[in-house]
Amino acid sequence: MNAQELAQKHKLLECIHCGICTGSCPVARKANLNVRKYMREVAANGKLTVHPQDELWSCTTCATCGIRCPKEITPYDFLIDIRSLAVEGGQIATTLRDALESIFKNGNPWGRIRSKRSEWMQEMKVKHVSEGVEFLYYVGCTPAYDPRVQDVAKAIAKGFEKAHVNFGTLGDEENCCGNEVYGMGEKGLFEFLVEENVKLFGKYGVKQLVTGCPHSYHSFKNRYGQIDFEVLHHTQIFADLIEKGKFELAQSLNKTVIYHDPCFLGKQNGVYEAPRKVIEAISGVKLIEFARSKERSLCCEGGGGRMWVDISGERLSEMRVREAAEAGAEILAVACPFCLLTFEDAVKTTGLEGKLQVLDIAELLMKSV
Ligand code: SF4
Ligand code: SF4
Repeated sequence: MNAQELAQKHKLLECIHCGICTGSCPVARKANLNVRKYMREVAANGKLTVHPQDELWSCTTCATCGIRCPKEITPYDFLIDIRSLAVEGGQIATTLRDALESIFKNGNPWGRIRSKRSEWMQEMKVKHVSEGVEFLYYVGCTPAYDPRVQDVAKAIAKGFEKAHVNFGTLGDEENCCGNEVYGMGEKGLFEFLVEENVKLFGKYGVKQLVTGCPHSYHSFKNRYGQIDFEVLHHTQIFADLIEKGKFELAQSLNKTVIYHDPCFLGKQNGVYEAPRKVIEAISGVKLIEFARSKERSLCCEGGGGRMWVDISGERLSEMRVREAAEAGAEILAVACPFCLLTFEDAVKTTGLEGKLQVLDIAELLMKSV
């Protein structure tokens, strides 16, 4: 794609240079990322510069710039195209390249072998999607392999069992959804994953898919083109099951809980109520809010490939856990595997261990049944 095509695709000539995109970007100051400057270079000078790694790869694709832009331009999508140029030119950090290679070879970015993908459910009786199930539980790469996030996958599966819903997984056949691949600009690999996954879902006649990861939720819903299956996030199905009286929420927790809206569920897809409904249904929970919540929520810095690139300076996740503790929360509830990992790490680096616990909403719910 040349500069003119890029300018046209992203409506760069409509930009009024108000600077709201850069002003609202959570990583702009720390990483020197000036998305408006990038756009201007392309639109006004026809220049296609691939900027230093720290700048270009610092964007988390949180979408804040696009949501705030008064001209309905999505600067992060433009940045993803610039990343594609960097990827094509081989200008990409080794850690990112390794993650992409692992996705191509093993179907996950974590360098783990495919035959271990369903190891987390060995002690549970989970059906395969071919055994006449109501919906597919799409687990996702991080919940399948990361020891901490495996607990969330177990809590979600346990929740489905408790509510007597008939679900199944793809076992070791499950593949990466490709959301981070798209965000890193590797469009060719993304298209390959879309093709493979759509084929797989079609083979098993999937009509409804539930995922515990907002990144795969976003990818299936908005990046796969025309799909013939419904996509739900686990908090949506749990909220619905609670409303239908499928859970006996007998245990009182007596805790103050604060909820962090993940960018890919909240800002990108407007899912704000379902997670809160689940938390509020748990007895003995006092739900409090961040000063910056819902569409103003602060990014955890885990999206857009940032799980594989560290940018120096204070982490947004560290700011966020401090905000949670200052607000008086004992539990920081999350609904995304990346938020869980970045915040647990931040709790350790900010000395909040023992004061603030990070739990996925599914884990919180399972404490009360
Ligand atoms: S998507 Fe988020 S991190 Fe990326 S440029 Fe926009 S506001 Fe900044
Ligand atoms: S917010 Fe939109 S109009 Fe304003 S500078 Fe950024 S891209 Fe241009």
